[in-house]
Amino acid sequence: MAIIERQKPIEQDKVERRSNFNAVEENFTSEQASLEASRCLNCKNPMCKKGCPVSVNIPEFIQQVKAGNIQKAGEIIRETNMLPSVCGRVCPQERQCESKCVLGIKGKAVAIGSLERYVGDNSKPVDVEIKPNGKKVAIVGSGCAGMSAANDLKNAGFDVTIFEALHEVGGVLRYGIPPFRLPRTVLDREIEGLKKKGVEIIKNVVVGKSVTLKQLKDEGYSAIFICSGAGLPKMMGIKGENLNGVYSANEFLTRVNLMHANELTTPTPLKVGTKAAIIGGGNVAMDAARTAVRVGYKEVYILYRRTEDELPARKEEIRHAKEEGVIFKFLHAPVEIIGEEGYVKAMKFEIMELGEPDASGRRRPVGTGEYVTLDFDAVIVSLGTGPNPIIQNSAKNDSLDLETDKKGYIIINEKGETSINEVWAGGDVAPLGESTAINAMGAGKRAAKAIIEALG
Ligand code: FAD
Ligand code: SF4
Repeated sequence: MAIIERQKPIEQDKVERRSNFNAVEENFTSEQASLEASRCLNCKNPMCKKGCPVSVNIPEFIQQVKAGNIQKAGEIIRETNMLPSVCGRVCPQERQCESKCVLGIKGKAVAIGSLERYVGDNSKPVDVEIKPNGKKVAIVGSGCAGMSAANDLKNAGFDVTIFEALHEVGGVLRYGIPPFRLPRTVLDREIEGLKKKGVEIIKNVVVGKSVTLKQLKDEGYSAIFICSGAGLPKMMGIKGENLNGVYSANEFLTRVNLMHANELTTPTPLKVGTKAAIIGGGNVAMDAARTAVRVGYKEVYILYRRTEDELPARKEEIRHAKEEGVIFKFLHAPVEIIGEEGYVKAMKFEIMELGEPDASGRRRPVGTGEYVTLDFDAVIVSLGTGPNPIIQNSAKNDSLDLETDKKGYIIINEKGETSINEVWAGGDVAPLGESTAINAMGAGKRAAKAIIEALG
């Protein structure tokens, strides 16, 4: 029997894609999907399912793809994951479902993510008959967690309103992850589906400022689900961070993805220079670097204080970044940003070497006492984010004690309940594991289930 190789999605040309925001990877063709599905061994004890944070019934959906029943495959995935087109594109499958596939032990795992994306794009959610129960639920934030909770609560008959601080819906999927990884048509389709069901989405409302938790309760919302994400950037705390041309990765990505700051007609344009420095080595840093390439910086650098082996970003993202011309400089730790007339001109780094492993198990970078200064006209800081304290502070003013941990994340139990009665939380603002799209979506589902149980 001829061995079938793992199918690879077609990728947009490396040079061409440097100047556009179109999807880098194409979806599988039907032939590729069928070939890839036929690689699945349909194991009796499917480990892949255990690797998925929401336990998508992977072998079952793949068998339906093999049989050509794409709609049925989509229905199987949507039993646990309402966003297959999104997760198929952004899940770190190599650490989740695909890492557990037995084919991966000696060869290459089944391309579960690419199959899920194919199914998501070529099937539709089943219409559910909604019987209104007369109870109102407020959802704070329209990201993965908010969308999935809204979907399940609406199906259960609740009158659901999402309050979103920004003027666009989708959270990180809209303002963070660039369209060349997640085309906006995919996101728009999911949001349209929610609106068609009757979920009300009110934009430009900052809960904690425009309206408080107490006011929402007074307005008759029986339950509130807080899923406001963790969008507050961490900066380096070094000299020169206030110069023009210094951005947090979130600000930079938001300005491009949401405000279209790279387009000539925008009222808030981006001043694109020649050399951009991205500080950090995670997925967000890769997104920022690849976006900087596309908006027109001639040279884009990723500066990281450890070596390539310790880069936390997905291997695929690193490969894509390199293919697009991003230059990596390892063992560089930021010391100071140097300015001229208020603008970034250069940046000073200390050269590091690797010492003993630290608490994370990775070898700790140690300064060598040697310094370099490199010219840049933009510095984009990508060192992680935390939750915004607006909601917690406003709750306090209303004598509501919303318990948070030292870093400001909302403390919840396994049902998503917070310290305030009838207030639930989940997703990046109250993480129970890694901050990923699928975990946020799972948190939304979990909270919806708990709300349905609590309110009947
Ligand atoms: P969010 O998506 O952050 O949504 C929260 C929403 O709440 C936002 O729309 C925000 O505007 C709104 N909000 C905030 N405060 C208020 C308020 N007071 N009132 C009203 N609304 C409010 N994960 C992956 O799995 N794969 C990836 O490839 C990946 N890439 C990423 C790339 C970037 C650039 C970033 C930043 C993150 C990435 N992640 C990735 C992480 C993942 O996207 C998040 O973990 C997930 O989307 C979080 O979903 P959420 O619903 O909890 O929050
Ligand atoms: Fe894999 Fe993510 Fe799909 Fe789960 S949701 S099967 S982890 S791609």
